Amino acid sequence: MPTLHTEALILRSVDFGESDLILHLLTPDTGRLTVIANGARRSKKRFPGTLDFFNHLDVQIGRRRPTSMARLEHARLRRTLLGLRSDPRRFALGCYLLELLDRLAPEGGARIDHHRLFAFGLGSLELIDQRSPDAGLRVLLEVRALDVLGLGPELAHCVRCGEVPDGNAGPVGFHVGDGGPCCSRCLSEGQHLLSVHVGTLRALQQSRSLATGQLGRLALRGAVLEEARVLIARFLRFHLGLDLRSVGFLDAQLTPMEPSGRLPPRLPKPISTGGAR
Ligand SMILES: [Zn+2]
Repeated sequence: MPTLHTEALILRSVDFGESDLILHLLTPDTGRLTVIANGARRSKKRFPGTLDFFNHLDVQIGRRRPTSMARLEHARLRRTLLGLRSDPRRFALGCYLLELLDRLAPEGGARIDHHRLFAFGLGSLELIDQRSPDAGLRVLLEVRALDVLGLGPELAHCVRCGEVPDGNAGPVGFHVGDGGPCCSRCLSEGQHLLSVHVGTLRALQQSRSLATGQLGRLALRGAVLEEARVLIARFLRFHLGLDLRSVGFLDAQLTPMEPSGRLPPRLPKPISTGGAR
């Protein structure tokens, strides 16, 4: 790998040895990339004030030998997104999105659009930096994350026959494993699908016409939000295979209000977010 000059976001940071850091970076050139930052914990001068979460960086990355881990040689701060540290909701959603990308973005030459993935990572953090998120925005960002990772659900057509499901006949079945709705004609006997209204699928589909920075314009509320939240949570869990570490903290911050205006009783789980050091 020749020396690479690119932009980067830090997805994950792990102490290594006495003085080094292993960083999972997201870059527009490579997607997710693991690098070692030698001496980053010993010397503050080596990477002054740069290697923190929610920082938009310019980095220089090299590799001494083809088989060795890529090394972070220089990092320069472009911008720090301070709003993400200003309230627990923004911080929780920011940590969650970084963890989600770290978990689902493949490292190396997978056939996904790295530039689009990086633009989503940066654009979503910039959006949360500007506005305190609600549970609806969380769902829309989750759908967008799945889309840019190449895992987005089908929302408009039956996954078996391609027909548009009839929304007038009540809720349709959503097949989480097949990744989309299943019309009544294609349903097999005894299948347990998630029940969802076509209007909810349309609301999520509508969000795809907006840029990431515009997702705050679309408000998901009430029954649509509740259905979308359950659907996307199940869909994400199917792809992740487990809950992310940051999800308990995020759920505690962004739980939708009940019609009474009171929060449903749910204890926030104290967790280590892997967030700011
Ligand atoms: Zn069908």
